[in-house]
Amino acid sequence: MAIPYRSTRSTTDTESVSFGEALLRGLAPDGGLYVPQTLPRISFAQIFEGDTLPDMACRVFAGWIGDEVSAPDQERIVRDALDFPAPLVPLAPTGGGPWSDTFVLELFHGPTLSFKDFGARTMARWMGYFLERRGERATILVATSGDTGSAVADGFAGQERIRVVLLYPKDKVSPVQEQQLIAARPGVQALCVAGDFDDCQRIAKEAFVHPAFAGAGLSSANSINIGRLLPQMMYYVLAASRLPAENPWFCVPSGNLGNLTGGVLAHLSGLPVAGFVAAHNANDFFSRFLSGEDAGFAPTIRTLSNAMDVGAPSNFERLQALLDRPAMQRLIRAERVLDEDTVASMQRVYEATGYVADPHTAVGPEAVRRQRALGGLRGPVVALATAHPAKFPETVHAALDFEPDAPDRLAAIGTQGTTVEKIVPSVEALRPYLVA
Ligand SMILES: *Cc1c(COP(=O)(O)O)cnc(C)c1O
Repeated sequence: MAIPYRSTRSTTDTESVSFGEALLRGLAPDGGLYVPQTLPRISFAQIFEGDTLPDMACRVFAGWIGDEVSAPDQERIVRDALDFPAPLVPLAPTGGGPWSDTFVLELFHGPTLSFKDFGARTMARWMGYFLERRGERATILVATSGDTGSAVADGFAGQERIRVVLLYPKDKVSPVQEQQLIAARPGVQALCVAGDFDDCQRIAKEAFVHPAFAGAGLSSANSINIGRLLPQMMYYVLAASRLPAENPWFCVPSGNLGNLTGGVLAHLSGLPVAGFVAAHNANDFFSRFLSGEDAGFAPTIRTLSNAMDVGAPSNFERLQALLDRPAMQRLIRAERVLDEDTVASMQRVYEATGYVADPHTAVGPEAVRRQRALGGLRGPVVALATAHPAKFPETVHAALDFEPDAPDRLAAIGTQGTTVEKIVPSVEALRPYLVA
């Protein structure tokens, strides 16, 4: 049986679509985001018997996708996509002190060193599968200021039937990020745009509605896509399975709220959790909303944790379709951590435990510290580590006075050859890359 999905903006007479259709469309025709029509109920006690992340993922996805992807295909896709570890590291291995019962869930052991590898790699393979069945092709167009671009480029590279065109702003991404974006990969074209991130986003949006590109099979791979969210449930499941004594809290460094929504989806389908802490930087729309202030989306503010610089989080609409405000307030706490406190958090955690947190991850422990001080968080807390510190050597150096060790796969990127073209910030400049 296929599982029906609906738009967050659906009315009673809106048709539902299958998971595959929702995945290929990304955004619903009415501008809404896809959610399942009825939340699946999953018996996580049984799921926890699975040994590995792919084992558990196959069983969980059966509840969310049904048999629209056959069991052997699902197993092949999941094993291929989720082929890297997600270690759960106790911050205070000897117990005691302010970080006792606090764990870091390292989500940066994939090829591009951020948690986005989970969603991008799995989504790419699902997309390849559904395109193959339909005999269609797609071009993924992404405007990126950071981790999304490299995760999508790497995750989709080499997929038959899919090409990727990446737009990134000249001189506005870090040297490590640029290396990751322009690394030569089959089927991927990086374009360096003479403009800022907003220019990149503007020309991408224009391309999606431009008549010249109507036949180009354009598609997007950002975190509004349900295909990126479902895989993000799995590391919450994995962590909960390893902490069987007590339901954990999860602390999630957040921007577009896609990571958090993955955890909420897992919980709403039965995963036992104590609650979530959404840790934001200065872009604090969601914490204002939860505190009951009359919150509106705000212009984006630049911070040290730039992958969380989102003034108008797109997955908020999805959270609202799943939970009303009182239910959200019961399940989720939010904190706003400014740059100064992020740096202080990197230093505090390092001095107390020797753990090196990147500037995104570090927002989490500070939010945990504040919530623990309020007496709000009892029992185990899992703080998600969303990026490897070696992606942000300048910030780590400024905070801790040394540069983090770069893992081999990051060092290897520098030697793999590069391809990039420069374009002016106009939709016309995309023509040679989108119309083959
Ligand atoms: C994308 C990203 C985030 C924010 O995740 P959302 O799903 O947008 O809330 C946090 N940290 C890092 C390192 C990221 O790349």
